[in-house]
Amino acid sequence: MPELPEVETIKRQLNNRIRGRKIKEVEVNLPKFVRYPLNQFKKLVKGAVIKNVKRRAKLLIIELSNGYSLVVHLKLTGQLVFNGQNNKHTHLIYTFTDKNWLVHNDLRQFGFVKVVAKKDLNSFFIKESFGPEPLNKEFTFDLFKSLLNKRKKSKIKPLLMDQKFVAGIGNIYADEILFRAKVLPIRKVNDLEIGEVRKIYQAIKEILTLAVKKRGSSNKDYVDTKGGKGSYSFLQKVYQRKNKACFKCKAKIKRIKLGSRSAHFCPQCQK
Ligand SMILES: [Zn+2]
Repeated sequence: MPELPEVETIKRQLNNRIRGRKIKEVEVNLPKFVRYPLNQFKKLVKGAVIKNVKRRAKLLIIELSNGYSLVVHLKLTGQLVFNGQNNKHTHLIYTFTDKNWLVHNDLRQFGFVKVVAKKDLNSFFIKESFGPEPLNKEFTFDLFKSLLNKRKKSKIKPLLMDQKFVAGIGNIYADEILFRAKVLPIRKVNDLEIGEVRKIYQAIKEILTLAVKKRGSSNKDYVDTKGGKGSYSFLQKVYQRKNKACFKCKAKIKRIKLGSRSAHFCPQCQK
């Protein structure tokens, strides 16, 4: 699933590519993809200018000139490709008045587009109750500590992936963050030493910042708006490296089940 670095990459690229463009029409191949009455959606989108593209957690918010926003979740396999090819997984095609276009593909069809009026956007996100944005200045070490204090019995990896705890981290980056912090994914919050908590906090900032710079990870279906792959996959130390040698100590990377997901870690480097 696209996580913070991937969605942030798409957000930045969309701002370069579609901001200021006017939508001439929208073609909807899969009506269930649009969580809004279809005729109203088409009317609303037609003639609107893209004002800005924002991100909150793993959601994209495409602000239109008419006071509405398209809230897009890419879920597992969503792609937004500028002037991309129309294939059997293309569910939406926005055509702009300058003849450029944007396709929304989604192989597994778990993604969606919602329409939210500007005045309702705040309450929409309050309802979602996302945790803080880890790359924002507001996400300080003190805040991280106080949030952990409320979740003492949680295991650290599932907690990092809990969108209500902190926004945007998923399976890939939780594994990579804990490897950098040298903490095992199964550790409970109340067993962590303060030095480890600090290392996890620093790793969150460092790993996510670097991953945004590398335009995310393309282990599966993720591509950016140019159809290009993110290069952070090449920097991954543990994620999807089961039985391969740890780059640091040569021990075999392990993969275990943890809750409904998996976790990758080095049994020697991480304690
Ligand atoms: Zn190791």
